[in-house]
Parts: sequence; structure tokens; C-alpha cells
Amino acid sequence: MISRRDLHELLSHPPDTESPVLSLYLDVDQQRAVNLNRGFESVLKSMIRRVEHGLGHNSRLKEFLADARLAGSFVSDYEPVGKSLVFFCDASKGFIWHRSLNVALDSSVHWTPRAYVRPVVEARDEFERCGVILTDRARARLSTVYLGSIEEHHEAFAEAEIRKVEASGMDQMFSQKNFQRKADEHVRWHLKKVAEMADRLVEAKSFGRLILGGTHEVTAELKNLLSERLKKCLVGSVTLPIDAGTADILRETVALEEAVEREEEEVLVRRLLTAAAKEKQAVVGLPKVLTALNLGRVRRLVYSDGFNTSGSECRECAGLFESFAENCRDCGGLQIESQDLLNAGIGRVLREGGEVEQLKSTAAVRFLEKAGGIGAYLRF
Ligand SMILES: [Zn+2]
Repeated sequence: MISRRDLHELLSHPPDTESPVLSLYLDVDQQRAVNLNRGFESVLKSMIRRVEHGLGHNSRLKEFLADARLAGSFVSDYEPVGKSLVFFCDASKGFIWHRSLNVALDSSVHWTPRAYVRPVVEARDEFERCGVILTDRARARLSTVYLGSIEEHHEAFAEAEIRKVEASGMDQMFSQKNFQRKADEHVRWHLKKVAEMADRLVEAKSFGRLILGGTHEVTAELKNLLSERLKKCLVGSVTLPIDAGTADILRETVALEEAVEREEEEVLVRRLLTAAAKEKQAVVGLPKVLTALNLGRVRRLVYSDGFNTSGSECRECAGLFESFAENCRDCGGLQIESQDLLNAGIGRVLREGGEVEQLKSTAAVRFLEKAGGIGAYLRF
């Protein structure tokens, strides 16, 4: 898991050209043959060599090698968990930060004045926290899915199960006709309880999306019983048996989430382009986005998958510019070159409490490309 607070911590360090941060993303997935026998260690070594060659006789080479040694020794002791390792370090400051993620990320090494957070921010955007309610006529299972991992919340089982036992005893006292009516009442009672449990879950785990699982009949009835808050989160239903394995729940949920994400992107980009055309707190195109960023106006940054541009970042005012000049045009402070200006832009948006949306849907990307591949919703 990588929380928003984690990102804030990583982004709180000011850019430092004297002592850059080594950012490492390593595919350690043990389901992949290439990673058996610790194949990821040789992947790391060759990535490190590539950066080292790139630096040539740079005076900071020693600094890089110290960071690389730190990463190397960490990875050689690392027991793979999940699919990817995310690791940041700066040996000169004694800084190390790492997490294991259950999301596949491409392996890469970056040595930059600021932590290179873009891949992990994009993964967080793609896999929003999602609540999953799997239910039949008598039982329920509540889980949350986040960044490729599933967590089940067991208290949900017990409450519904107890009622089921009581109900069976009582039901014997009724005739067949009454039995059916009682059974239907019981299902409704059960689903009401499930809806209440779901409310407590959204309170505790604050997910933004909800998926219902079960037969069409049961999910349709449950849908009507959900609170307004949960109805707003609901993105769809999947057909799954109540005793489905967690791997099956995870697979179905992630597939639905991806489809929803793509659909939402298309809506988002259409609205963005319309708002920008009407100049209603939205802009498109890099120059306007940078101006808005530098004024702290960006509420939601939107860009096409793979968008990249180089430029410069001011060390004093954190201003971002398309071209490189020694001194900042806003404050006169010293600037540093940035190979991936978007990484700096993402950092700035997140530090200021905004959001980031990477577009992957082919249609959404095509629309935004026509407007320069990047845009933003503004705060004011
Ligand atoms: Zn400046």
C-alpha cells in the first residue's frame, strides 16, 4: 500500500541537484519465470550500469554509486512479496523508503533531484480503493480491493449467519405458504443488514467505488436498499457465488474497475475540453497548464498515458518551465533541468492537495492529444 501521506512524505524533500534521490521500481513477481532464482537482481544490476554509463565522468558519479550500493544491498536481502518493489534512497542523507506492491510496474531506475513518483501515482490512479459486497439470500462477505490486494472484513459473516440459524428454527412453525413469505422477509431483512454493514465499511475504509457480487436478483434488491452515499459509489455488479475464492473476487473486481476507469476517462476528457473552450476553470495545452501550476491553481491534472516533456524547475519557488534558463523568470532563483517535467508537476499538484488523472482509454487519449495531451481543472 502507498497512502497519500506516504506520497506527501516522499514529495516533502526539496529538489537537490547535489544529492539526487535514487528511485527504483523492480518487477519481482514470482509468477514470472524470469524472476525465479532472483532474476530481478541481475535486472537491477544492468539498470544501474546503464545510469552509471550515462553519467560518464560526471563529478557526481561517486554519489550515484553510493546510492546504487545501498539499493543493491537492500535488494540482495529482499524476499519478494507481491509483484513489485518500490524503493527510494539517498545514501548521503541516510534516507531509505520502500514498499512492496501487488501491482505490476515496469522495472526502472531514476536518479533525479526529486523522488521519481510518477509510476506509483499512476498506479494509485488506476486502482482506486473499491468496496466489494458479495451476497446471497442469507450470507454476505464484505471486502475492499486496493492496489491489486484484497482485504476481507469478517465481522460481516457472523451477523448474518446467526440470524439464519434463528430463522430456520422459527420457520418450522409456519405453513408452506407462510414459509415462502417468511423466507422473502428474511432475505429482505438480511439485505438491509448487509446495506448497513456496507455503510459502516465505507465509513471505516472510505472507498470511492462499490461493486456488488451475487445473482442478478439479489444484487438488484440490495441496490435498492443502499444508502444514497453508497448508491453514488456503485459502479456495477459481477456474478459470483458466495463462496468464491478471493483470487476470483479480485480478478472480477479489477476487470470491472478497469472498464469503469476507461469509461470515466472519456467522460472526463469531454467535460474538460468543453470547460476549457468556455474558459470555465479549466485549461488545456502545456503552456496554460504550467502557468496554472505555477500559480497553485491546479485542482486536477489530466494527461495522456506516456506524456513526457523536459524543462526546468526553480529551486526557490518550485516554478515549472518548458525551457531551461539558469535563472527563474518568476523569482530569479536558480533552476534545475528536469528530464520529466510532468513528474515535477505531479509532485506539485499532490503537495497542494490536488488530484492526478492519467488517461489510458484510446478514445480519451485521442481527444486530449488534439489539445496538447495535457489539461487541468482549476481551483479558481
Ligand atoms: Zn522561481
